[in-house]
Amino acid sequence: MASERDYYTVLGVARGATDAEIKRAYRRLAQQWHPDVNTDKGAPERFKEINEAYQVLSDPQRKQAYDMFGRTAAGADPDAGFAGGFGGFGDIFDAFFGGATTAARRGRPQAGADLRYDLRIAFVEAVRGTEKEIEFPVLVRCETCGGSGAKPDTAPITCPQCNGRGEIRNVRQTMLGQMVNVTTCPRCRGEGRIIETPCETCTGEGRTERRRTLRVTIPPGIDEGHQIRLSSEGEVGPRGGPSGSLYVAIHVTPHPALRREGTELIYEADVSIAQAALGTRITVPTVDGDEDVEVKPGTQPGTEIRLRGKGVPHLRRSGSRGDLHIFVHVVVPSKLSKKQRELLEELAHEGKEPVSDNGTGIRERLRDALG
Ligand SMILES: [Zn+2]
Ligand SMILES: [Zn+2]
Repeated sequence: MASERDYYTVLGVARGATDAEIKRAYRRLAQQWHPDVNTDKGAPERFKEINEAYQVLSDPQRKQAYDMFGRTAAGADPDAGFAGGFGGFGDIFDAFFGGATTAARRGRPQAGADLRYDLRIAFVEAVRGTEKEIEFPVLVRCETCGGSGAKPDTAPITCPQCNGRGEIRNVRQTMLGQMVNVTTCPRCRGEGRIIETPCETCTGEGRTERRRTLRVTIPPGIDEGHQIRLSSEGEVGPRGGPSGSLYVAIHVTPHPALRREGTELIYEADVSIAQAALGTRITVPTVDGDEDVEVKPGTQPGTEIRLRGKGVPHLRRSGSRGDLHIFVHVVVPSKLSKKQRELLEELAHEGKEPVSDNGTGIRERLRDALG
């Protein structure tokens, strides 16, 4: 990810720039680098980078996440679906400039596909954040031809069927006037160029498969179903097309004792009648290790003990963390030893509480009485 530049650098604004400054910088750069007006070879890549920077820095929540955790966190947008984010160049451009460029989508190299990587992490890793190394097969730019798809020392030619436009226009005269029907050029598949002598390594595709290893930063507070978007880490497009994104889909292995609800953690603690009445200390597993917690004398069933700040950190609000809620369950024994029964009967007698006398109790007392 060495090629990934800081979003503020991309837009040429200072950290702490106002929303208006960011918007102004984006509009200026987007107009300058739009691939339909800028023929520079790096323009599509640059334009994509500019858009991505703006997507994050114009969204207060994502901007804050980016400021704190960098690119990984800003991309981890649980509200966005898998195909979330934004569409092609045209979509952004349309939104900003009133769709003036809708017709100008021709002769553009096709972008590479987005990839999805399913990553399983432990419960505590999700809460505390972690770093993971992932490895996956991906289509990368062919080294032999540099991605053009043409054999070295040859070059793609302009498609003769569409003259490089990538589309065919059929004009028909009808009763209602002139009808223009535009279709993608079948010869060059809309690319505007044709490879006459294909590269032997990639058979003209401009890309080859390779295994890539990446370190992914998992921000604290991430949860099951969240996705981390790593732009330009997906497949490279054919014949020099821009790269898609890599989506790392997070799966979290449940904790044996803790349950999570957003930023809150829940632990159900069982105590005996005697422990609830007399008080005790219990060991509670937290994501920071075991904690010794006091259960006060006279604790009622369902009582909640709250460990403040022992929950899950907010994904987008640093320094803010949920609580750990301990719910105390008083367990009534269903089986009693002889001694336990006697003691409980004594307890009931002391409190003048009538209790059932079935089971072994009465017989044993009779036997004791009869000696
Ligand atoms: Zn090649
Ligand atoms: Zn063509």
